[in-house]
Amino acid sequence: MAVLEIVRMGHPVLRQAARALLDDEIGGRDIAELVGDMVETLHASSGIGLAAPQVNRSIQLAVIEIVESASRYGEIDTLPLTIFVNPSITLLSEETAGHWEGCLSIPAIRGFVERPQHIEVSYQDLCGKAHNMVLEGFLATVMQHEFDHLAGTLFIDRVKDTRLLSFEEEYLTYQTQP
Ligand code: ZN
Repeated sequence: MAVLEIVRMGHPVLRQAARALLDDEIGGRDIAELVGDMVETLHASSGIGLAAPQVNRSIQLAVIEIVESASRYGEIDTLPLTIFVNPSITLLSEETAGHWEGCLSIPAIRGFVERPQHIEVSYQDLCGKAHNMVLEGFLATVMQHEFDHLAGTLFIDRVKDTRLLSFEEEYLTYQTQP
């Protein structure tokens, strides 16, 4: 396994729609190796989620793991390490709430983003088996942030009020909720 380079905002791969993985690719060695490297990269960067385009692979794959020590995100709902292949989201409610988001591809920046807070996620695992997961609150926000990467969208696109953009250091010092 290896720690991969995370591409940053401005790299064109972050603006491409990623392609779906085919069933016979999902169980293959290439994807297994990539997932191992993505998990190692996620851990090395203390992130909570990493989508394949962030390591310059334009495919519908993301890894998410939220441990309790991710306390810098405030409200904590944990999620064990989960691999999402070809994920899609169904909104279960139009109701939105905002969270301060950050992104490994936009280092040192935070932005306040409002998103729907009750969703169902459909995805395949590394064996190609289909799963569904119903999520609320911060976890719903995390999924939408990660799966946005697979559509070429960055959280910064969803910041409605650019006054609610901040460097991380200033965010931690002044942290004013809207
Ligand atoms: Zn991100």
